[in-house]
Amino acid sequence: MPLTLDDVRELDRQDPLATFRSRFTLPQGTIYLDGNSLGAQPSAAVAAVDGLMSQWRDSLIQGWNQGWFDAPERLGDRLAPLLGAGPGEVLVTDTITHNIFKLLGYITEGQRGTEGQRGTEGQSRARPVILSEGGNFPTDGYIAQGFCRFGGFEHRVVPEGEALDAYLDERVAAVVLSHVHYRTGRLRDMAAITRQVHASGGEVVWDLAHSAGALQVNLAACGVRYAVGCTYKYLNGGPGAPAFLYVRRDCQDRAWQPLSGWLGHASPFAFEVDYAPAPGISRFRTGTHSPLAFAALEASLALWQEVDLAQLRRKSQRLIELFRESLGDCLAEHSIADITPDEAQRGSQVGLVEREHGYAIVQALIERGVIGDYREPGLMRFGFAPLYLSHEDVWQAAQHLREVLSEGEYLAPCFQQRGAVT
Ligand SMILES: *Cc1c(COP(=O)(O)O)cnc(C)c1O
Repeated sequence: MPLTLDDVRELDRQDPLATFRSRFTLPQGTIYLDGNSLGAQPSAAVAAVDGLMSQWRDSLIQGWNQGWFDAPERLGDRLAPLLGAGPGEVLVTDTITHNIFKLLGYITEGQRGTEGQRGTEGQSRARPVILSEGGNFPTDGYIAQGFCRFGGFEHRVVPEGEALDAYLDERVAAVVLSHVHYRTGRLRDMAAITRQVHASGGEVVWDLAHSAGALQVNLAACGVRYAVGCTYKYLNGGPGAPAFLYVRRDCQDRAWQPLSGWLGHASPFAFEVDYAPAPGISRFRTGTHSPLAFAALEASLALWQEVDLAQLRRKSQRLIELFRESLGDCLAEHSIADITPDEAQRGSQVGLVEREHGYAIVQALIERGVIGDYREPGLMRFGFAPLYLSHEDVWQAAQHLREVLSEGEYLAPCFQQRGAVT
């Protein structure tokens, strides 16, 4: 039996996370199912950015000694519990793209050290291969390619959906993998794959873009040494909010990272001629960060300290089931494939594929105030961010989708035009 509006309102009354919704500002009439691309605005972020503007005006350069300078480490420590990491293991900095590059350089420089080839120009590397996965978010593969091109490595791609087994050998230095896949929403077995890669003598860099803030990540328990992620998706840090990087404590002092900028120097204000890496996680800093961006993120992370991640996961999965149940037979009637994996193997999004009209269907939904997004080829993505979505929102979104389909609303010419960002 599909749930009625009264049923879903009752679910909202019983929802232990329901109060978080009032801490976000969303436009009237919007049901936001795109928090997996850009999270909604925590109301406290507005005051935080405002406060930062006043601090800039009043404190000028002294602001750097009033909390701006150590924000990458301070916010990293705040983020750590959401990732199953400890203090001093997470740094908030740069973008995922930069951070993957830094970690690949760091890992491979460390391997040269241990394999006795440091500084031997021209001598071939014991582990010359970097693996990435086909079908991953493009930047992960692009930056691996760039790293290989400039670092003299060989880039190999594991085709989407294939196991690593046939690709992992003694030549592989590192593998870049997504924890939750950005298109399919598939959740990987982080512990098992980490063990497998380490057993082959290689390292794995996990990309947590679609898992941080969507589910409890257990980096320490899974034996992970290196990870990256962003804060503008489920973590609601704001557009272009800085990314993060995780390096397990016992792996932090092995080598240089390749973007050896002044703020990752052991004593940046000594202005020495030669680079010397800072101890610990701070060596993964590069240049000057933006306190404005950190202010918005800090407000969001304060809110996250109050979230029970087990409750978050339960609600995320309940919302996904509610959405699919409420769609009923309408997907089959319109030949739309639901590619969402089973509960144990998914993150917090639903993927529906309609190759011919997917883009237009998403546009018709947006016109009705239901915001999802579209990824080629044919994929309609709907992200479920449990902090600001109610059960009623999700139920209503499903009714909208049913109507868009049954009335052929998406066929209108205005929904066929494409913008630069889908
Ligand atoms: C969103 C996303 C990114 C974004 O990378 P940036 O460098 O922060 O722009 C990277 N990887 C994955 C898997 C993503 O989903």
